[in-house]
Amino acid sequence: MNSFTPPSEGALPHSAVVREVGLRDGLQSIATVLATEHKREWIRAAHAAGQREIEVGSFVPARLLPQLADTAELVAFAKTLPGLLVSVLVPNLRGAEAAIAAEADLMIVPLSASHAHSLANLRKTPDEVVAEVARIRAARDAAGSHTLIEGGVGTAFGCTLQGAVDADEVLRLMQALLDAGADRVSLADTVGYADPAMVRSLFERATRIAGERFWCGHFHDTRGLGLANVYAALEVGVTRFDACLGGIGGCPHAPGASGNVSTEDLAYMLGSMGIATGLDIDALLALRQRVAGWLAGETLHGTLWRAGLPKTFPAPRERVAA
Ligand code: ZN
Repeated sequence: MNSFTPPSEGALPHSAVVREVGLRDGLQSIATVLATEHKREWIRAAHAAGQREIEVGSFVPARLLPQLADTAELVAFAKTLPGLLVSVLVPNLRGAEAAIAAEADLMIVPLSASHAHSLANLRKTPDEVVAEVARIRAARDAAGSHTLIEGGVGTAFGCTLQGAVDADEVLRLMQALLDAGADRVSLADTVGYADPAMVRSLFERATRIAGERFWCGHFHDTRGLGLANVYAALEVGVTRFDACLGGIGGCPHAPGASGNVSTEDLAYMLGSMGIATGLDIDALLALRQRVAGWLAGETLHGTLWRAGLPKTFPAPRERVAA
């Protein structure tokens, strides 16, 4: 039925995509409001460093997230960069209509598998979010729009409010999103509860269900297992991962949480293992330094920046031609 081919035992994918989500997941959970000018520079430099998928913001009311009030402007700018897939987050139909009007390439609709997190964060039950995705799909099709719909199932490994989240419920909701018209689905460890064994088990089941429509793994490094979790997902054939430059971000409902897996550390791990990403890691490290300057006073994470690349790193042949 689907053409997704899991790798043979022990084999890793030849290439993988690192999707930058720092401008959304990162910036939404820190106090500093980054100037639009700096966000534009970030997007331009990330693209120059080889990033080809960037989530530039979120279509939520500016009174809720003033940090992301310039999303439409950023979509318009990002769409001028060649070969860039421009993503935004949309919490509801109204946000989706804005994403369609802005001609974003992809809109991510978050769903929390934890009912408690869903009510706290989205003020809807998970099944009400599924119904909203059906309305978004109808609106997208009626508009003749090509904006892809990604259903992102969050708190897939547990939740700070509810505790355990049942894997069967996660997969039921993922299937419901596909049935409601999502073009893609993803799984997110929103609060950093996953370990590699959990990831391997859940992602294996998820990719079997969704096939080619399984799109992305989203891991937070809250407890230091972010990259290990990426590795477990690679082992079952997942080839796209969300990451934040400098590991910025966290979750308003997960006090003390560090951010996503850091873009530069992930690019290094993949490159070191010979998995092609098209990323120039020196350029990412230089950009990290600029972002750190713009976000003075905020805590950044990640490790590679401290010591830099090892002499043995096979950098030049992995790089995208300028
Ligand atoms: Zn996240």
